[in-house]
Amino acid sequence: MALPARAEIVIIGGGAVGASTAYHLTRLGCRGVLLLEREALAAGSTGRSAGGIRAQFSTEANVAIMHYSIPVFEHFEELFGVDISFHQDGYLFLLNTPELVETFHRNALMQRRYGFDVEELTPEEARDRFLPQLNIEGLVGATWCGREGYADPTSATHGFANRAREQGATIRVGVEVTGIEVRGERIEAVQTTEGTVATHVVICCAGAWSGQIARMVGRELPVYGWRQQAFFTGPFDLLPERFPLTIDFAAGQYLRREGRGLVLGMTDENEPPGFSTHYDESWLEQLIPAAIHRFPVLEHATIAGGWAGLYDRSPDENAVIGEMDSPSRFLYATGFSGHGFMQSPAVGLSMAELALYGKTTLDLSEFSVERFRSGRLIREAIVI
Ligand SMILES: Cc1cc2nc3c(=O)[nH]c(=O)nc-3n(C[C@H](O)[C@H](O)[C@H](O)COP(=O)(O)OP(=O)(O)OC[C@H]3O[C@@H](n4cnc5c(N)ncnc54)[C@H](O)[C@@H]3O)c2cc1C
Repeated sequence: MALPARAEIVIIGGGAVGASTAYHLTRLGCRGVLLLEREALAAGSTGRSAGGIRAQFSTEANVAIMHYSIPVFEHFEELFGVDISFHQDGYLFLLNTPELVETFHRNALMQRRYGFDVEELTPEEARDRFLPQLNIEGLVGATWCGREGYADPTSATHGFANRAREQGATIRVGVEVTGIEVRGERIEAVQTTEGTVATHVVICCAGAWSGQIARMVGRELPVYGWRQQAFFTGPFDLLPERFPLTIDFAAGQYLRREGRGLVLGMTDENEPPGFSTHYDESWLEQLIPAAIHRFPVLEHATIAGGWAGLYDRSPDENAVIGEMDSPSRFLYATGFSGHGFMQSPAVGLSMAELALYGKTTLDLSEFSVERFRSGRLIREAIVI
């Protein structure tokens, strides 16, 4: 089917953020929304995400984003008719220094103001309540919030996209944007592998590839790909059937249930920037000793497989959201690092409002790309 010759707004990228933006635009009554995805919906980072959803951030803007987003995930099936398997067993952060405990305590005070009932626990309480197999050696505290958990990002993306279609959006997959025509200050069209579409408004939701899209209008978005790997075990009954998504914060390592098995992941600070999504088992040499130290029963687990995907990483590991000063009407939502799926509901709403009204209900001004020029970086203490 030919692409429409003209679109009111073109969204580039069919991950969770692009699909949510299409949904929110059409919900606000916008017609003529065209979303272009070069592969398939959720084929980028979204479909390779661990699906974690949390409120425990240290900056108020990130908590405000989750204050809108978590209820959307909680009511997803009612809103979108799609079951996203939201396992709401909480996030359990394991903390190994008094300084971290103090930071998480201060954060909890702020998170509670947003209605998130974050509990502060001793290591013994965390172990006895959730994970009797936990080795608490070296831990001094923990936090837990029961409204957090994990869900299926691919189903959520399809949920947003289906509703957007029903509300009038055109969504085309297998179409790559290859250029953006600009005359003076104005965007005139996007060029694609399927022809040219006239438009004056572009929203870049291209994840780790957003820098390439920005260069099409002669601008920079400081976002790069950063490979993250995760692996899953075979059925494993030596840990509880249900337990929180558990993060050994200092080790940068997480563990959660996946069916009867487990998913484990860990950030590799030595990983260089790049776009490779090759799964490389050698990283397990770092992860496995750290995981077995914290959960000695894991020495009985079998590795069933693994995958790699890209964090769309920004220099301060926080989202880059806003509208370029030039050319006019080039909007961007990218750079989410490890938290783009969970933020997609609020970010989609905000992008829709910014495109249609030029302002947002949530104050997301601190996420503007201008912060990298002015040096006002976002100091988010809880990045995984
Ligand atoms: C292993 C791993 C674990 C993660 N865990 C979590 C987690 O627990 N919770 C969480 O919230 N986040 C997590 N993330 C991060 C999360 O996946 C991303 O931040 C999020 O998916 C970004 O969504 P997006 O829609 O912005 O980008 P993407 O999903 O990457 O979508 C961008 C899309 O743009 C398309 N595109 C690019 N260029 C073009 C072009 N020229 N023309 C057309 N289409 C184009 C791509 O094909 C892609 O589908 C994790 C990521 C990884 C890799």
